[in-house]
Amino acid sequence: MTDLRYLPDADDVTTFTATITETTQDSVFLDGTYFYPEGGGQPADRGALEWDGGRADVVDVRKDHGDVRHDVELRTGELPAEGTTVEGRIDEDRRRKLSRMHTAQHVVSRVVLDEYGASTAGNQVYPDRSRIDFEPASFDDEDLERIERRSNEAIDRDLSLVKENRPRSIVEERVDEGRVPLDLIPDSVDPLRVVEIEGFDRCPCGGTHVSRLGEIGRLTVTDHVSKGEDTERIEFELEDAT
Ligand SMILES: [Zn+2]
Repeated sequence: MTDLRYLPDADDVTTFTATITETTQDSVFLDGTYFYPEGGGQPADRGALEWDGGRADVVDVRKDHGDVRHDVELRTGELPAEGTTVEGRIDEDRRRKLSRMHTAQHVVSRVVLDEYGASTAGNQVYPDRSRIDFEPASFDDEDLERIERRSNEAIDRDLSLVKENRPRSIVEERVDEGRVPLDLIPDSVDPLRVVEIEGFDRCPCGGTHVSRLGEIGRLTVTDHVSKGEDTERIEFELEDAT
């Protein structure tokens, strides 16, 4: 099992050392990693691994039977053998954009739940734009302006985030109805990593996030599209995120 070292509260670590546990032709496994593997609507980190005599770009990161596989493109040297110490460097700019976007997704999801009683049915963030599917929902232009305004009001309050592991039973009691489908998270996952925005939102989530809402910057709802009778997709961007 690869140790997911970015959990529960190390989203801001972008350089680290780790030990190779397995090397294949074009990927490596580590005993622990701060690279985020694709999942939960958040793309994988990018970056590089360096070791004595070599360097490789990390071009994709995936969960693989409880481990994390770092797909690499070799730049110099030969891929290191098991037991080699490597230095990991995560692309900070990309990580920061994804963390801002992902945290913005929590804000918009909370605003829509509070204002319209609609749940988040799915989401996908990218460094430059993001989307969230809500249901049951159907928004007009006035609704979109309201969602944008309420989201920016929360961001302007610069609320702080707490990220910590909590017992599943406590989380199940305290997460608001409709906020997140806890039954989709396997029962074996206990404790759950919870992301709490001070006095505003609480949600189990394994992604990366900023530490204060002010770091998100201004949010603009750019589009919406109906994805069926009951489902509405909202798309948004962030200031300086492109
Ligand atoms: Zn999250």
